[in-house]
Amino acid sequence: MNVEIRNEPLSHVTEKEYSATQSGMLCCPQCFQSKTMQDFIAKQGRRANCEICGSLGQPCLPACELTSHFQVFLSYYRCNPSLSPVGSMLQSDDHSLATVLHSDGIYVFSERVALTKQNALLNAVLKDPNRAATDWWYSAVIGQFVLSPPEWTMFVVEVKYKNRYNINWEKWDLPALLKTISPRFVENPPAGTVFFRARLHEGRVYEIPDIEFLGPPPPDLARGGRANASGIQVLYLSNSAQTAVAETRPFVGAVVSVAECRPGRDLRILDLTRESKLTGLDPFADDFAREMQTAVLIAELNREFAEPILPNTADRDYAPTQFVAEIIRANDYDGIKYRSAMNTKGNNYVIFYPLLFTITYKFSVRIKGVEVQSEQYDPEWLEKAMNSLLKKPTQP
Ligand SMILES: [Zn+2]
Repeated sequence: MNVEIRNEPLSHVTEKEYSATQSGMLCCPQCFQSKTMQDFIAKQGRRANCEICGSLGQPCLPACELTSHFQVFLSYYRCNPSLSPVGSMLQSDDHSLATVLHSDGIYVFSERVALTKQNALLNAVLKDPNRAATDWWYSAVIGQFVLSPPEWTMFVVEVKYKNRYNINWEKWDLPALLKTISPRFVENPPAGTVFFRARLHEGRVYEIPDIEFLGPPPPDLARGGRANASGIQVLYLSNSAQTAVAETRPFVGAVVSVAECRPGRDLRILDLTRESKLTGLDPFADDFAREMQTAVLIAELNREFAEPILPNTADRDYAPTQFVAEIIRANDYDGIKYRSAMNTKGNNYVIFYPLLFTITYKFSVRIKGVEVQSEQYDPEWLEKAMNSLLKKPTQP
């Protein structure tokens, strides 16, 4: 199927040309859930029978004329034509573009359009005969095997290797984006909520540690971490004792002391663990580009904050998240919640104001065993996958 590409409105197309595009994919307002898209086609389209949902006598447009509208979100999606059988780390069997969009909460189509027709329409939008259905598509906001959005990658390179303290925000305004994050990413733990903090004993394993040992280090001893530069005092906490203990990376036989900590007032936390799904938003509305950008950024930050970092390059590798943490603090948040890399079911918190917390209870545990989980690791496959993804952006 060869669909001719046009940029001019359909009304400029001659009768003969129109029947040529008709062999492509004509779609109508009833194909879509989006009010914006329904209105657009109703206004620009020309009466015909819809080839996607089968509605008769509707205002119709060839799908290839809608490409720029889809590009707002499709630009974040990557696909891989050759690696489908190996990607068993993902849950669903169907990795077509229509399914992946739906799993991210981007509801494009109405119930009248079956999955095969959804992918057929997306093929026409991508101006490619079968990529949507046959390639292996990756979620932009969930899943593990994801490429960072280009804006974030540029920022990381800038902060790590070029310019740490004086960033030019012209190309991608991260502070502005973090300033207007949707309330759905805010968590408000009330005063008195229990959090946990743990520290590994180095020697003196039989002594019960004093409270100071479990509190935040004084500023002159505060080492840099993923959300604080050296000298800036913050409090790293977890939502369960088990997670807090796991975060100390203990060895068998080690003694770890745990403190229960409670805040003296309600908190305002930026929750990076909340699903970045875009459910309920109109993917063709004007403000969707920003929502998409935010959702992708939150998903990226959640990955970035949980990424284990080697101690000898920590100075450099923590710089991007330290930078982001300062912007978030400046936007009236008390802290950030992110997933734990050490306990997949647990979450961590960094609190910008340690004095908000008091330790209400403490105890020690001895580590009986440390569970190791592993999966087959194939660097060659990974390299092939990365190269293939980098070569294949979705731009039609
Ligand atoms: Zn239709």
